[in-house]
Amino acid sequence: MDNKLTVELISVGTEILMGNIINTNAAFLARECVKLGLSCYYQDVVGDNEGRLTDTLNRAIDRADIVILSGGLGPTQDDLTKEVSAKCMGRKLYMDETSKIAIAEYFVKVGKSPTDNNWKQAMMPEGCIILPNNNGTAPGCIIEDNGKHVILLPGPPEELELMYRESVEPYLKSLISGTIYSKMVKICGVGESKAETMIKDMIESQTNPTIATYAKTGEVHIRVSAYGEDEAAAKKLTKPVVKELKERFGNSVYTTDENVTLEQAVVDLILANELTVGTIESCTGGLVAGRLINVPGVSEAFKSGLITYSNKSKRKLAGVKKSTLDKYGAVSRQTASEMAAGMAALAKCDVTIATTGIAGPDGGSPDKPVGLVYIACFVCGKVTVKEHHFNGSRAKIRNNAVTAALNLMRNCILEYYSEKTFGKK
Ligand code: ATP
Repeated sequence: MDNKLTVELISVGTEILMGNIINTNAAFLARECVKLGLSCYYQDVVGDNEGRLTDTLNRAIDRADIVILSGGLGPTQDDLTKEVSAKCMGRKLYMDETSKIAIAEYFVKVGKSPTDNNWKQAMMPEGCIILPNNNGTAPGCIIEDNGKHVILLPGPPEELELMYRESVEPYLKSLISGTIYSKMVKICGVGESKAETMIKDMIESQTNPTIATYAKTGEVHIRVSAYGEDEAAAKKLTKPVVKELKERFGNSVYTTDENVTLEQAVVDLILANELTVGTIESCTGGLVAGRLINVPGVSEAFKSGLITYSNKSKRKLAGVKKSTLDKYGAVSRQTASEMAAGMAALAKCDVTIATTGIAGPDGGSPDKPVGLVYIACFVCGKVTVKEHHFNGSRAKIRNNAVTAALNLMRNCILEYYSEKTFGKK
């Protein structure tokens, strides 16, 4: 890609350094910078210490075009980011009257009185661009010098994210010549290493667009990003690559829209076909229902969800036969199938999904090891059952089972309609 502006992120705060809070600001900023096509080579975390912050910032200014600092803009003595940044960029601090008024107005709005040290937040580096804080007191700022851009943002994520959207993103866009356009091809049902092998040639020959793969729980996401003079030019470059990916992965691609989740894709399919849905879960304990109910608008389709954890509830609620449980056990293809069919009859819905498995850490046997999960999907009278062997902790096994369940629903519905269309039904 032609655009080679580099960015370095510095998160300031002893709490982050000690692991007391998770550095979500750096994750947010890094994602946003990548979206803009900036190259993010380094991230630093530094405590509230003048000497170490000075060293870190000087090094960052030396090796990056843009440095984004977050945190340490507060009113207390240990909030040093502005003081240190001003010094490193050769600026003095002055009292900015506009920021002072904004802080006073903020306190009126929240019905509190400022303390003397709050005015410290209106002290700004000379010649900087001031970034208003519409969600708190500390303004941010940008100090520019000699092709270097030092951007200071407040620590609280809700303040930082709003300030980023309102002021920083437009500023960064103005620095970049041309545009980055990207598409996210989301795939489910193909493992990460297999997915990489399937597109090895494309990854090896990539220039513009670039292709990057990310492994998620049970999913692989492939970002295709192109650089062009304008959005239309960049978009045009991504098109053939996205098309090629869709051809290679077929139905495993559930969306090319960054904002669409797997559950959203499943619910869209259900709503588009005016189907009703129910869930019956053992080892996933309601997580499949929870994921579906994450999606706004699912109330049109979702009828009921059951958690049948014990054998008795599998029999009594879902109508699984005692003979099936005795002969094959609760974790079996047959039980999963009867759960799905039983739920469809009970809730009178078109589509149901059933899960039964051994999430561990105990309860496994040589025949039925921990991680064995059966998932059954009923679609308009036809039941499909899949056997899975997942690894890892109880949480990981259960989460993988949820993704596999959502994916099975999607595939079974697609298959049902393609068979109908081609007259096999
Ligand atoms: P304030 O004006 O509220 O004092 P500040 O700019 O001085 O803000 P900090 O004091 O460094 O920021 O952090 C305030 C709070 O913001 C922290 O207690 C934490 O909850 C959150 N925070 C700070 N940095 C991060 C980060 N990197 N990731 C996530 N949360 C953060």
